[in-house]
Amino acid sequence: MSTPVQDAAAHGVRWDLSALFDSVSDPRVQASWEDAHRRADAFVEKYRGKVAELDAQGLAAAIREEEQIQNEAAKPIIFAHLLFAADTSDPAIGSFLQEQTEKSSSLRVKMMFFDLELQKIEPGVMDTLKADPALATYLHHLDVVRAYTPHMLSEAEEVLLEECANVGSRAWVRLHDEVTANHEYTYVDPSTGAKETLTEQEVLERLRHADRAVRVAAADAFSSGLGTMQRVITYVYNTLLADKKLEDRLRKFEAAEDSRHMSNELDRPTVDIVMRLCRERSDLVERYYKVKRDILGLPELTHVDRYAPLFDTKQQVPWERAREMVVDAFGTFHPDMAARADEFFAKSWIEAEPRAGKTGGAFCSYLTPDLHPVILMTYLGSLDNVETLAHELGHGVHASLSRDQTPFNYHGTLPLAELASIFGEMIVFEKLTGQADSRDKLALYAGKIEGIFASVHRQAAMFRFEQRCHAKRRADGELTSEEFGAIWQEEIQSMFGAGVTLGEQHRDWWMYVGHFFHTPFYVYAYSFGELLTLSVYELAKNGGPEFATKYLEVLKLGGSRTPHELMGVLGVDLRSEEFWQGGFAAIDRLVTTFEGLWAEVKG
Ligand SMILES: [Zn+2]
Repeated sequence: MSTPVQDAAAHGVRWDLSALFDSVSDPRVQASWEDAHRRADAFVEKYRGKVAELDAQGLAAAIREEEQIQNEAAKPIIFAHLLFAADTSDPAIGSFLQEQTEKSSSLRVKMMFFDLELQKIEPGVMDTLKADPALATYLHHLDVVRAYTPHMLSEAEEVLLEECANVGSRAWVRLHDEVTANHEYTYVDPSTGAKETLTEQEVLERLRHADRAVRVAAADAFSSGLGTMQRVITYVYNTLLADKKLEDRLRKFEAAEDSRHMSNELDRPTVDIVMRLCRERSDLVERYYKVKRDILGLPELTHVDRYAPLFDTKQQVPWERAREMVVDAFGTFHPDMAARADEFFAKSWIEAEPRAGKTGGAFCSYLTPDLHPVILMTYLGSLDNVETLAHELGHGVHASLSRDQTPFNYHGTLPLAELASIFGEMIVFEKLTGQADSRDKLALYAGKIEGIFASVHRQAAMFRFEQRCHAKRRADGELTSEEFGAIWQEEIQSMFGAGVTLGEQHRDWWMYVGHFFHTPFYVYAYSFGELLTLSVYELAKNGGPEFATKYLEVLKLGGSRTPHELMGVLGVDLRSEEFWQGGFAAIDRLVTTFEGLWAEVKG
């Protein structure tokens, strides 16, 4: 595909995955599966039907072996996912991914009995076992596994569900990815009428262009491109909604979001407080966009203006400069943060080059603690890209810090997974605004505030979209594209009040949101994490080096405790509405500063 990319783009910046495997034909992939199956067979032989008889030491040894088997077996599949994300268009990689997914399933099936037997141990007996120091490392893991007890099926049923998922939900998700990632959008240049073929990422970039005509043309390209996929995506989403309905019925989950709350280790009342406040505080969004309209000098703002830059800045940040900026900023908070972030560049743990076929968006992959985390993004040189880099490196530092945890204690739950990334973004933001004049500052504040709205209010609106789609699919059957579009439009509009009026064209834009397909109700973790981080960041600003040390200690704990416990280390109570109000107060201050800066610049 011939696509002009800006000069500041990270050409040639590709990751080195050799710590995993060399290629799809690396014989070590096969060897690793053989080893995993050999160990799994021995595990079955030793423990099947006998888990309830184990004493604390025996149980600890069994869990250690289980996590090692899973850790090794995760590697081929991580490798396949990473290759696929970097190049979704190569059929050889697609089929490699499918093969690894199936092999991973067959291993999971073998090992499934263990957790099922763990779940059947009488509560009194389990309490005695847990009191033994031998199990100290796995207390949180045991609680997590046993929380699912009321939602588990028989082993035969669990095996059936697991095996069928490869040709069921997982296949539909992959279809969504393949269809959207490889779609070519036809962009018509507003001044010359010349046609150009763009990737999704490039179209989305142009929606942030200074020239309104370019944004309108990008929105046209995006809408008509999504329009051609409408039938397929509508069917895929309906099928995934039905799949979730079915599984929730079998597993006795009440509301569609309840299983996500369980895996997030949060309860519905805690999440509902946050979601309610997000809706109530849409006044902040409206206030901001009224100022933005004044700055842009437009009579009305629509969906194409939401992310318009305030001034015609062509500011491009070359890759090496971005590295310096982020690493320096992290260093002002804690030297260890800077050192760990810099390692990602020095050791080629980032895949940043713009390329067709590469998946949109960005992520940090940290699936096993014995391997270093890696980052994927597309770096074109904008300040937004710098923030994305800071975000992913925040995750990266978190992952790097928690590598001393065992595999089962390595991953935090979703809502806290965004703590370190958003925190990283805030540090870089402060550094940037400290050096800027009032005009540049205004632009930086706009970027930060819009980013916060995109996380807090927009993801909460997306949560409501999902809630309504799942509920409607359960009550009334399949939804039409028009119905999905209407719910989407209503919920996203509600976050803007009178600040922005979304155009009709925006109705289909739910289709490219991967989270709806991949991980239902993932989105609220962003609202939750952003607000949480804004409040924690305030504490950090007043807490000095002592707080910085305590904060890094929490990151080092990885996922070895519940979100409530981890935040407890910082003195935070997640069930307190007042704590969450603190996050909104921080946003209010940002908007007030923005209003003041504009009054100053306007003169
Ligand atoms: Zn993130």
